[in-house]
Amino acid sequence: MSTQTVLVIEDERRIAHWVRAYLEKAGYNALVAYDGPTGLHMARRERPDLIVLDLMLPGMDGMDVCRALRAESDVPIIMLTARGRESERIAGLESGADDYVTKPFSPDELVARVRATLRRAMGQVRAPQVLRAGDICLDLEAHTCTVRDEEIALTPTQFALLETLMLNGGRALTREQLVNDAMGATFEGFDRAVDVQIRRLRQRIEADASNPRYIQTVYGVGYKFEG
Ligand code: CA
Repeated sequence: MSTQTVLVIEDERRIAHWVRAYLEKAGYNALVAYDGPTGLHMARRERPDLIVLDLMLPGMDGMDVCRALRAESDVPIIMLTARGRESERIAGLESGADDYVTKPFSPDELVARVRATLRRAMGQVRAPQVLRAGDICLDLEAHTCTVRDEEIALTPTQFALLETLMLNGGRALTREQLVNDAMGATFEGFDRAVDVQIRRLRQRIEADASNPRYIQTVYGVGYKFEG
């Protein structure tokens, strides 16, 4: 397979260079643009396999660049957003980004996201049809959930939540990510809505919902699935 190209659009040169160095070390060809219009121009000319896009950019912000790109291509986009700006992350995903990484981030985390996003985009890995962890079995085709050899009923939202959690096993997901992936939209008070759904899901799949084995709370972040 030929080397894949990642375009990094980031005005903070220190971060841009550091990201480029790590991507190159990981075997990617990396290009850098320091502002929105240049980034957009390079994206059109170089046709990268993936774009890492900073949200706060001079000239044209990341959200506008993202929308412009989305209007003309389905290139995977990972957005870089500031910690604690939930509204930014949601807006980023709504403007068409595939994923986001919160600053400050570790190079390993970014490279892992790039790799995972490219893999999904390339369709190299067919999504598994049956997810298994411990004594939980989630059949994505038949849409059934079996726990300790017993089929249990889940609402479509609970099923989607569990699927998202299991597909991201071991990784902490924020409530916005869960809402975006599993509920399909963001709405007022969605944090509480996620918590309620998680509580119900735990009651269905955990042997002891007050001391969950599978769906763990990650304080200050959200939830993660431990298989
Ligand atoms: Ca910036």
